[in-house]
Amino acid sequence: MARRETPAAGPGSRALIVDVVRSAVTISRGELADKTGLTQPSISIIVRDLIADGIIHEIGSTGSTSGRPRKLIAIDPANRFGVGFHLGPDTLTCVAIDLTGGVVGREVVPRVPHEIWPADRLARRFDDFTECLDLPRGRIEGLAVVAPAAVPGQPDTAHELGLLRAELTDRIGVPVLVENDAAAAALGEFWSRRVSRDQTFGCVYLSTGIGAGLVFGGALHRGAGFDAGELGHVSISYDGRPCPCGNLGCVEQYASTSATVRTAREDPGLRARLPLDGSEPSAYDAIARAAVNGDPAAYAVLDQAAVFLSMAATSMVNLLDLGRLVLTGPGVALAGSIYARRLRTHLGRTAHARHRHSLTVELSTQPRDAAGIGAAALVVQAAIAPGHTAGAAA
Ligand SMILES: [Zn+2]
Repeated sequence: MARRETPAAGPGSRALIVDVVRSAVTISRGELADKTGLTQPSISIIVRDLIADGIIHEIGSTGSTSGRPRKLIAIDPANRFGVGFHLGPDTLTCVAIDLTGGVVGREVVPRVPHEIWPADRLARRFDDFTECLDLPRGRIEGLAVVAPAAVPGQPDTAHELGLLRAELTDRIGVPVLVENDAAAAALGEFWSRRVSRDQTFGCVYLSTGIGAGLVFGGALHRGAGFDAGELGHVSISYDGRPCPCGNLGCVEQYASTSATVRTAREDPGLRARLPLDGSEPSAYDAIARAAVNGDPAAYAVLDQAAVFLSMAATSMVNLLDLGRLVLTGPGVALAGSIYARRLRTHLGRTAHARHRHSLTVELSTQPRDAAGIGAAALVVQAAIAPGHTAGAAA
């Protein structure tokens, strides 16, 4: 690779080095120079600063062809933490992670759907959560609060959170970010899976809505107004079901967990067999549990939803030429394999670039907590690899 020198102390070079060390897990300074195109002296200065700041540490040596041992460096996980709150359909999930994305604490508390918590209540929750985990305030890099993207006609939680941001920052004394849940989940998967910044990475977040998060060059793609990734409003039928967004045939009307529950409730056999009259999340989980336990009608309902989702996923993959896709969110917590299998098969037949490069489809390992983990990852990335995170939607 041609050497392209950039200023040693520039935040871009620092973020680049943090990103390469994170995705490599362990690496020597010489390998860093090869991978980044920066010169050895620049690498030495930036790595020295990152070690002094407690972001990177030396973890031993390895042999080299010259016989001189090379010191290996890695992200220092235990020194600092990010905290994320996810306002889900009926819960608030609180997550704390270390710098490598490892979860160090998690709590879920009930929440009335669409209820906006005032800043003082969010601040008390933050205090309780971090005190129970014994996380010193001075080592918490910030809090990110994430919520589903707004649906026309319903309260805009993300906007409301944006209005609370300044007061919440004052009350808890650390920076506060606000983001939509699908975008946050994608950044969380990017960070904790150690995805390389060279990959064109996407995430599908399946919940009561359907969102996508996109990470290009190590940074979340947000669009003109933090609204990128509205996969749920990709139409799969030009004269299909009307959607509150104004379009017809939006995939969200066919494949979201809400749509799946509606479909199952219309099936008299499923209605008689499964507990579908409770809350929507509990009804969805009952369908998913039955599907993986061999109930053919429940399986058919989920598999049909997965076919619809696959059609929209093809549009997204082709538009953006993605190389790696992760499925996450509560909709894939119990029966994710049904969705993953459909998407792999469908994209294997329809992805435009399938003959030129592979497209991997993976399942999140923590789909219910992915948005909370992602929120915390937003904080960590903003703190140790600045330049990627614009700040907040408000
Ligand atoms: Zn729509």
